[in-house]
Amino acid sequence: MILIKVRVLFLLAASQLLIFIQAFSQSAKKNTLRTIIVDAGHGGTDAGAVGQYEHSLRSQEKDVTLAIADKLVAQLQKELPGVKTLPTRTTDIYQNPREKAKIANDLGGQLFICIHADSGPLKQGRRQIGTRMVTRYRITHKKKGKKKIKVSTPYEVEEPVYEYFKIPLTRKGTSVWIFAAHKTSDKIKSIMEGGEDFEIEQNPSDTVGQSNFDFNTGEGKIIAELYMKRFQEKSDHLATFVNDEVEKTGRSALGVNQRQKGIWVLQATNMPAILVETGFINNPEDERYLNSESGQQELAEAITKAVIRYKNQLESNNKVPPPAINVLTKEQPLSNSLVDSRATKEMKVLQVSSNKVKVELYDDGEIDNDIVSVYFNKHLEVDKRSLSDKAYTFTLNLEAGKTNELVMYAENLGTIPPNTALMVITDGTNRYEVRLSADLKNNASVRFELKNNN
Ligand SMILES: [Zn+2]
Repeated sequence: MILIKVRVLFLLAASQLLIFIQAFSQSAKKNTLRTIIVDAGHGGTDAGAVGQYEHSLRSQEKDVTLAIADKLVAQLQKELPGVKTLPTRTTDIYQNPREKAKIANDLGGQLFICIHADSGPLKQGRRQIGTRMVTRYRITHKKKGKKKIKVSTPYEVEEPVYEYFKIPLTRKGTSVWIFAAHKTSDKIKSIMEGGEDFEIEQNPSDTVGQSNFDFNTGEGKIIAELYMKRFQEKSDHLATFVNDEVEKTGRSALGVNQRQKGIWVLQATNMPAILVETGFINNPEDERYLNSESGQQELAEAITKAVIRYKNQLESNNKVPPPAINVLTKEQPLSNSLVDSRATKEMKVLQVSSNKVKVELYDDGEIDNDIVSVYFNKHLEVDKRSLSDKAYTFTLNLEAGKTNELVMYAENLGTIPPNTALMVITDGTNRYEVRLSADLKNNASVRFELKNNN
């Protein structure tokens, strides 16, 4: 009897696990971005942070977030017409974070972008604005012992009058937040209640209800981590792109941060989610920027660019990557003529002090499946190599008194054109970093000149 019971339990657990894994692998294949939810933080009675320092515009976070969110929705709709972009609010209404998360989940978003503005603690300053006369009393005593009498004598003194004010914050810039993926029931609950990606919801005949599933078991932990990792990685990618695009505008980009507390809305959404703290509302420069049409538009455009990069990356994961190395014999005459059929742009001339140089080849920027071949003095040195963040290392033997030329030939454009590589070149003494960019019309080259060491 006991054996049967155990076996039944095991079967139930195993089938449960199978459903989860099936759901996971199914949804993992569906790497598309169909719906984006943009949330203007706060609203209605919840003003959020307020600009309150001397000479502040006294602007409220809820208005700034709505203005930026409006522009972001418009920009995303314009740049990504095939994607549905929906706001959680378009007017000054109050929604608690639970409502916001529910809206995002109900609308079936694959991406949740929360717009907020930061504030920091303010110091108080004071300045003297005049003086005033005040009456004080000097206490003396007459007589002694039991007959002691207290006598107070008034006198006038002049004292300064101060005005107090709040010193504006010096901290400024944009930061991006993602939820720290740890075992948090709200995220799991939300994932469990999630949309069409999760088969368990669509299958009411399943006798093992989702609520019975215990995430504290070994399998449960694995599943939870699998799901969270899925959102965590994607959220982190988008957050990194947003930070990068903000930096490109010249604004101070404060990086990608993770936290668990205080961003409930991120953990309660069944999709990758980021929160953008667009700027500090109690920093004068940031407050003006956040309230300006141009500042709002610039942020909307930067975030849109990041979403486009995110979408490209997401969809490139759907494609089966080509083999990393194409095994072919060296020096195929056909390839050389292919190289010559394109224009070659010289990117750098390096003066090196050794006739032996080490070259490390990486993908520059995002790893997007760039495949390159490298020729050195017309000889095939690297044949159709897929670039990654790990170095591919080779050595070049320079010939004295000759033009030593390395040419990078793009075998494809990767998913994010052009084809970009970072070359770290060392000659035993010095280290050089060269960024090469090639496409289907242009090769990139580096020329080496041997320094004469007399
Ligand atoms: Zn806020």
